[in-house]
Amino acid sequence: MKFFKKIFVLSLTLIFITIILPVKANAKKPYITVKEKVCEVGDKFYVKLKGTKAVSFCIKDETVAKVNEKGKVKTKRAGKTKLVILGENGKKYTCKIYVYDTERFKDPITTSSESSKVTADIKMEDVPTVDFTVKPGTLIDFTNILYTQGKPEGLLYLRKSKVSSKLKYRDSDCRLQAEVISPLSKMIEAAYAEGGFTYTIEAGGGYREYSTQERYWRRRQGMYPGYGDDPYHNGGVICVPAVSSEHRTGYAIDFEASVKGFQWLKDNSYKYGFIHRYEGNKTEKTGVMDEDCHYTYVGKDIAATCYLEGLCLEEYYEKYVWKINA
Ligand SMILES: [Zn+2]
Repeated sequence: MKFFKKIFVLSLTLIFITIILPVKANAKKPYITVKEKVCEVGDKFYVKLKGTKAVSFCIKDETVAKVNEKGKVKTKRAGKTKLVILGENGKKYTCKIYVYDTERFKDPITTSSESSKVTADIKMEDVPTVDFTVKPGTLIDFTNILYTQGKPEGLLYLRKSKVSSKLKYRDSDCRLQAEVISPLSKMIEAAYAEGGFTYTIEAGGGYREYSTQERYWRRRQGMYPGYGDDPYHNGGVICVPAVSSEHRTGYAIDFEASVKGFQWLKDNSYKYGFIHRYEGNKTEKTGVMDEDCHYTYVGKDIAATCYLEGLCLEEYYEKYVWKINA
């Protein structure tokens, strides 16, 4: 009897190892076929779910693009939007869509584009490698450039810091300026306490090295010759050259959050010294499209002034630092 019992247990184990385990391992996690799409006005493409059935397709801004029940997207105007597909498994899958009006690229308005063209012509090998110091509120954009490949002083790894446990980050080597950690933590704790909002720092959404940012930038330029030549007049860009990137300072953060979570940040971040850096209605000043994810630590004074007076950082400089029109 004992012998048969042993045989029985053994055969069950064999069945498990040879049949059930491989089936489990082969069951692939459901995924979306396109996570990010950069395209032109009038483009058509499909976005699908694999591994689960799509229940519904929803575009956040239907003036930018439309989608049908089969996942076929058609873009309508320049701008940024998201496609959210609800899977049969109850999960949502998102595709970010960036639409360009390339006709405008071909015929840029030339006034005031002189200085912005400079950044597109900079050769990496010419840029010095000295390290630099930077402070909150330093203006860095297409015309106020950070002309070095060096590192800023004051960076701290989040994993070695006392950052709020409510904040997650995708890169284990995510770094920010040390002085940002405390206000950032307070902001995240407040967002959680007030609305249950949680935030994750995107992959590459903290400090970025020169070479990393330059790689992103060159990729876009490869896709669209002349990309960024005149960012102030074509609806803005989503990627900037390394010399124009705030991510190189350690003061800029790209968050992932819910729509309500982002709204909370827009309304409250200034209390903690952060600004929503690229508002959709300031593109002609910043050269960058509306980016709901990008926040910059500028200190409480500048942040409060920007928020209460409705200024982007460029306008703050014009009014209070350079005193243009004063
Ligand atoms: Zn950013």
